[in-house]
Amino acid sequence: MTQKTVAVIGAGLTGLSTALYLKKQNIPFKVFEKSNRVGGVIQSHRKHGFLWESGPSTGTLGKPEAMELFEDSDSLDLLEIASPVSKKRYIWKKGKFRVIPSSPISGLFTPLFSLRDKFGILLEPFRPRGTDPYENLSSFVKRRLGESILDYAVDPFVSGVYASSPDILIPKYAFPKLYNLEQEYGSFLRGAFHKMREKKTDRDRKATKQVFSAKGGLGALVEKLETFIGAEHIVTGAQNLNCSPTEDGRYQIMQSGKLETFDGIIFAAGAEHLFEVFPFLNQPKFHDAVKVTYAPVIEAAVGFKKWNGLSLNGFGGLIPSKENRKLLGVLFMSSLFTDRAPAGGALLSVFMGGLRRTDYLSRSDSELRETVLAELGEMLRIPNPAPDLFEIARHEKAIPQYDILTAERMKIFGEIETAYPGLILGGNGVGGIGMADRIRQGSQMAFRLE
Ligand SMILES: Cc1cc2nc3c(=O)[nH]c(=O)nc-3n(C[C@H](O)[C@H](O)[C@H](O)COP(=O)(O)OP(=O)(O)OC[C@H]3O[C@@H](n4cnc5c(N)ncnc54)[C@H](O)[C@@H]3O)c2cc1C
Repeated sequence: MTQKTVAVIGAGLTGLSTALYLKKQNIPFKVFEKSNRVGGVIQSHRKHGFLWESGPSTGTLGKPEAMELFEDSDSLDLLEIASPVSKKRYIWKKGKFRVIPSSPISGLFTPLFSLRDKFGILLEPFRPRGTDPYENLSSFVKRRLGESILDYAVDPFVSGVYASSPDILIPKYAFPKLYNLEQEYGSFLRGAFHKMREKKTDRDRKATKQVFSAKGGLGALVEKLETFIGAEHIVTGAQNLNCSPTEDGRYQIMQSGKLETFDGIIFAAGAEHLFEVFPFLNQPKFHDAVKVTYAPVIEAAVGFKKWNGLSLNGFGGLIPSKENRKLLGVLFMSSLFTDRAPAGGALLSVFMGGLRRTDYLSRSDSELRETVLAELGEMLRIPNPAPDLFEIARHEKAIPQYDILTAERMKIFGEIETAYPGLILGGNGVGGIGMADRIRQGSQMAFRLE
């Protein structure tokens, strides 16, 4: 029997994960990437002794596939686990960053939540199970945990991860684990208790809450993956790629005047690019597949050779919308990972915009710089902030939202796969947005070809 040949569309973390596992199975494959480099939104930079990211900054090893990616690409030497200070996380409330409680006792004393909600947690297991699968996150959290927990835990968390609002996210798609705890066990607490007692396999144990990056930045991991996969398998600068089915049930790809035929195609780009790659899918019944709401994110890397602000003893701080500040959050990157700033200095990664402030995208660099320095100066008590590094990255379509459109998008992705055997559709429009989600989906897609 001859081996099936596969094309992978997109060489972000998802496509690279797919390619890694195609290579491991000795399946002949080729990756087509539109831009001139691989890695997608992942990009690391160095200047003046600072090392910063203009895309994702940290991931969690929350799925075994994330650790396996490092293992299976011989990249364990690159894996960098965040320093233990990462366990300390802050939320801004009434003029101060406050530590997120890490135990039930510290939870009782935190000024972040109301007394009513602190004690109300005890009643959580007795609250009725939700019945609306499309209930939004705000209502879901208010119903189970209370309003102050929504405002001072969930809202800032959602800003940090989705650059979004709990009013638009649907837990069933955005936080499926949490949603399933309620559906399966009737309660988060009861569900978490059951999960803790479940027997774990060695593979399950690879999934931890640890925060990771790579030595030399996440860009170094991308470079390693590219080398491991083999540059000969990757076509960059693949503009205007056009894929269509052939009469014998295969797929042909036309790119730069060259026609190539494959048995299977794995789509690992954002959902909005679907019809660009597969014009034959642009049919009314599939139109909702490309309807995606994106949150914009502006990221500022701010470096100080000599730090003289508050002690950066933690992961970073998130800012609830209720507090009406101009930033979404700040990560203390040089406290988490080595080599991010010169000794005695600091590197901060600041996030702005999101669905809260879409207008920030059109602001000039100098306006954004003024805003960031004024906010950081006050929040981290930096006298006359004059950074040695200030770099802005604008991402207009940063984070796909797992909102009410997601149900239809997922359904149509499934219908397309059924209608066109050999087409496997992934990308961050389905299956989660975090790096561990991307690695899981990417690796699973590599094993789905029959
Ligand atoms: C600013 C920002 C910060 C983030 N921070 C974090 C974080 O701290 N932690 C975390 O876990 N996650 C974070 N995320 C999310 C996470 O980074 C992404 O979900 C993940 O990296 C996306 O990987 P991907 O391969 O699915 O998509 P992408 O990285 O977008 O890659 C898709 C690739 O497909 C290519 N492509 C598109 N169209 C075509 C076409 N027609 N033909 C060929 N190729 C095409 C693109 O050029 C791109 O290279 C962040 C995302 C952003 C944008």
